[in-house]
Order: sequence, then C-alpha cells, then structure tokens
Amino acid sequence: MSLLTPEKIWFNGEVTDWEKATVHVWTETVLRAASVFEGIRAYWVADDERHYVVHLDRHLRRLRQSARLLGFPPHDFTAEFRKAVAELVIALGYREDVYLRPTVYLEKGAYTRDTGQMWLGTFMPLFPAPREESITTGVTCTISSWQRAGDSVIPPRAKAAANYHAFRLARLEASERGADEAIMLNHRGHIAETGGASVFVVRDGTVVTPPTSDSILESITRESAIRLLREELGIPVVERSVDRSELLIADEVFLTGTLCEITPVREIDGTPIGGDWPTTRALQRRYYQECLSGTRQKLGWLTAGPVL
Ligand code: PMP
Repeated sequence: MSLLTPEKIWFNGEVTDWEKATVHVWTETVLRAASVFEGIRAYWVADDERHYVVHLDRHLRRLRQSARLLGFPPHDFTAEFRKAVAELVIALGYREDVYLRPTVYLEKGAYTRDTGQMWLGTFMPLFPAPREESITTGVTCTISSWQRAGDSVIPPRAKAAANYHAFRLARLEASERGADEAIMLNHRGHIAETGGASVFVVRDGTVVTPPTSDSILESITRESAIRLLREELGIPVVERSVDRSELLIADEVFLTGTLCEITPVREIDGTPIGGDWPTTRALQRRYYQECLSGTRQKLGWLTAGPVL
C-alpha cells in the first residue's frame, strides 16, 4: 500500500481535499482512539475498465459489529459507504488495484450509554495497493513477546483503532529483530495472529488454523481461504488451537489478510519453513482467480465499481 497521500478523501458524506478532513484535538477519537475501521481491497480488471470490490457488504457488516462492541450509537453505514466507494473511485481515477479504509469515529461524547449524547463521524481514504513482492518470496516472522489481548481485555473481534497499539509494539519489536512480521500468542500461549493477518499451518496434508475464540479478528480472508481450501481444492482444514512449536515443524506456514492476501512464511525466528509451498501456491492461484474474475465470478465475493 502506498503511503503517499492522495489528493482526495471521502469525509462525512462527501469527497473533499485531503487537507480539509480534520477533527478537533479534544475528541474521544484523538484522546482514546475511539474509532473502528475496515480494510477493503478492490481489484482492477482492465478488460472491464472497472474495479471489483471484494466482500464489500461483509466488511461493512463487521464495521457495524465493531461499532456495536464499542458502544457507538447504532447506525447502518452500508448505503453511505457504498456511495463513498463509488464517488471516491471516480474522484481519484486510479486504474490499478486499490485499498479502502472506511472508518467510523466518535466525534463527540465520552463515557455514556446515552447514544443521544454521542455523535459519530465517518471518513474513508483510498490508496493504490500493488501486489507485494513477498507474495512470491515469502516473509520472515518472529514470535512476539507482546501478547494478543483476549476477549476480557479488549474484544479482538472488534476492528478498533485502540487494539492496534499492541500490534504496533509487536511490529517495532519485529523490526528490531530484523523480521518482516510479528506473530502474537494469546493469553493461553497459543498462536493468535499478526497485526494484519491470520496464521495457517500445513501439516501432513491438513491445514490447521486457530479458531476465532483464540483471540483473533474474525477475518474475512480467513473465511474465504478456508472455503477455497475445503470446497475448491479438496484440502482438509481443521480449526483448533495451534502451539508455537507446530509452526517450527510445519510443512508450510502462510498468512492471509485483505492487504497481504495469501503470503507464504519462509522463516520464523531463524528456522526455515516450507520451501516450494505447494498448498500455499495452490491457494494463491485460486484466490487470485476469484478476485480477478469480474463478471465471471463464481462465489459471489465481488461488487462492481464504476466504469472509469
Ligand atoms: N487480523 C488483524 C488484526 C487484522 O487487522 C486483519 C486485517 N483486517 C486481519 C487479521 C485479516 O482480516 P481480513 O481478512 O478481514 O482482512
């Protein structure tokens, strides 16, 4: 994802100049990171001259669920963000794969259950998101000394900005150790996830991944990967707790997420993993086939964007 800021952003109901999308410092969103967000990909299909957004409504449903977990006033943002996607895609005109970040934040109101005393704001940036080289080469990981917070600390299934400070610390530690990514354990010492991806392990022809009750985000790519493995590739998948040592003796380890797509892991704390990654490669091929299928889509994941 490019870190250069685009000229335009969608902010509280309209496309506006990037510089004009501001909030006051004395808001819960600045003071205590009271915001929830989504990360969505839209793939450019050149033949159709339009993007196809992956799992748009599923992401907007998770956004609503995150807002609910944080006690925000109930509101259905689906129509608003659907409109936002179309308007911002046209305004920026990128003819390439892009990443969208719809966000809902608490503009006014603090520790109250009175939703009449709370006001929400919304914004959504859009960035070009070319395919990472690590899709081919794989990434190196470290097992973080920072723990993924459990459901009784801060709900992992809420995609809330506040949760991401722990991931930031883990990422800083990973970079000190010279690794690309940090895999976090949960409070029971089982594998949880990275700050942006679910973890999958291949052992003797079976794919294993932690259940959603093991302190992970209810990831949408994880659901898609499980479905593709089971139903399209005929590979068994088991959702169960995963021990740290299983990663080190696995045939393959891979990460899945909207941004990192299906990324092979080539090393964990100095131990080489995988090699040719046959299962990971088969899953990558089927995943891209579906994401780039446009009007020929088989699984109903895609929403067509405006023609550019
Ligand atoms: N875990 C965390 C903590 C994440 O931030 C993400 C990215 N949203 C994922 C997993 C992957 O989730 P998804 O497949 O829905 O993008």
